[in-house]
Amino acid sequence: MNETTRYLQSVPPTEDPEIGTLVNCMLRDAVQNEASDLHIEPWESTVVVRVRLGGVLRELVHLPLDLLDKIAGRFKVMANLVSYQTDVPQEGHAPTDEDIGVELRVSVFPTVRGEKIVVRIFDPRNRSFDLAGLGFEEDTLRSMYEALAHPNGLLLLTGPTGSGKTTVIYAALTHLVNQHGPTVSISTVEDPVEFALPMVSQAQVNLSREFTYARALRSLMRQDPEVIMIGEIRDPETANIAVQAGLTGHLVISTIHAGSTAGTFARMINMGIEPFLLSSAVVGVLGLRLIRLNCPHCSAPTEADSNHHKHIPEEVLAGATLRQGTGCTHCVETGYSGRSALTEMLVMNDTLRESVLERLPTRRLQQVAVDGGLRTLWQNGLDRVMRGETTLAEIQRVLAGDAF
Ligand SMILES: [Zn+2]
Repeated sequence: MNETTRYLQSVPPTEDPEIGTLVNCMLRDAVQNEASDLHIEPWESTVVVRVRLGGVLRELVHLPLDLLDKIAGRFKVMANLVSYQTDVPQEGHAPTDEDIGVELRVSVFPTVRGEKIVVRIFDPRNRSFDLAGLGFEEDTLRSMYEALAHPNGLLLLTGPTGSGKTTVIYAALTHLVNQHGPTVSISTVEDPVEFALPMVSQAQVNLSREFTYARALRSLMRQDPEVIMIGEIRDPETANIAVQAGLTGHLVISTIHAGSTAGTFARMINMGIEPFLLSSAVVGVLGLRLIRLNCPHCSAPTEADSNHHKHIPEEVLAGATLRQGTGCTHCVETGYSGRSALTEMLVMNDTLRESVLERLPTRRLQQVAVDGGLRTLWQNGLDRVMRGETTLAEIQRVLAGDAF
C-alpha cells in the first residue's frame, strides 16, 4: 500500500486530511517509485492522482473533488505562484522538504472541472550525467565522443518529449568539462534550466522580457564561448545563428523537433537554412528514445509469439534469448524496471553531405544513411529484444508512429 492511502485511512472520517501532509505523502510516493511526474487531475466524480513510471501513467489514489482547490493552493504556495488566480496557466519551481529531497517544476492548468496540476520531479540523486552510463549502443557512444571532439560544427539531438534529450546534453557537456577542465568556455541558453552544471554558464530564456533564444545567442557570440548549447532550435533566426556559430569555430549542441533523425535536415531547410551551409555545419544527428528494461526480479525466458515471427526473421529469432517480466513488487507489477536510451546516430560523411546539398527527400536521405552504415532505432531496438533486455512490445510502443 502506498503512503498516501495509508495516511488517508488514518484520518478520522469526521475530519479533513491535512493538506501539507497529504501533498508530502503524494510526493514521497512519487519519489519512492522513481516517478518522473505527478499528475493531479479532476475527473467527473474524483480527483485522480497518477504517477508516471518508466514513461507510463499509473493511478496512485483517488481523492474527493472538494480537496482539489486546497491541493492546488498548496502547490501554488510552494512554487511562489499567484494563489487567488485559478483561470490562467501558471508555472514555477519549488524545493521540497529535506526528507523528500527533490526539486519540482509545478505546472497548473485551468480546465473546465478545475485546475489540473502536473509536477515534474527532478531527483539530483538519480541524475547521472555520464555518457557511458546512459545505455547507448557502442557505435553511438563512439560517434558521440568523436562528435564532441570536433572544435566546431553542429551536433543535433532529436526525439519526442521525455526521450531523455536534456540528460544526454547535460552528459555531453559534463564530458567536455571533464576533458578540458577550465580551458574551455561553455555557455548554454535553456528553457528552462533543469539542473545547475559545474563550470558551465547557464542562462534561461524569458519570453515575457523578450529574452529569446535568438537574442541570447546574438549576445552570447560576443562572450567568446567555445561550446554553445541551445535548448531547442524552433525558429528560423535561432536556426540561422546556430548554423553560423557552428561554421565559425564553435561547437554547437542543440535539439530540434523532427519526425525522424534524417528528417532533421528537411526541418532546418524549412526554417530557411541553405543546404550548402547546413551540410557543412552538421557533424551528426542523434535520434533518441527511452525504453523500459525488463525487471531483473521477475523477468524470465519466454517463447517467440506471432508478433515476433511477423517482425523478426526466423534465422535471427533462432539465436535470440527472449525475456519478459511477469510483474512483482519490485517493478510495481509492470514487469519493467529502469530505463535505457535507445539511439540511432547519423554521422555526417561526404555522401550524406552531397545528398543534403541535392535536397534529397527525407526517405532517400535515410536510405543513404543506412547504406553508409547507420543502425536504425528499430534495428537497435530489435537487438535489445534479442538479448532479453526488453520486449518487442516495448520497442513497438516507443517507436509507434515511426516507419520501420
Ligand atoms: Zn518485477
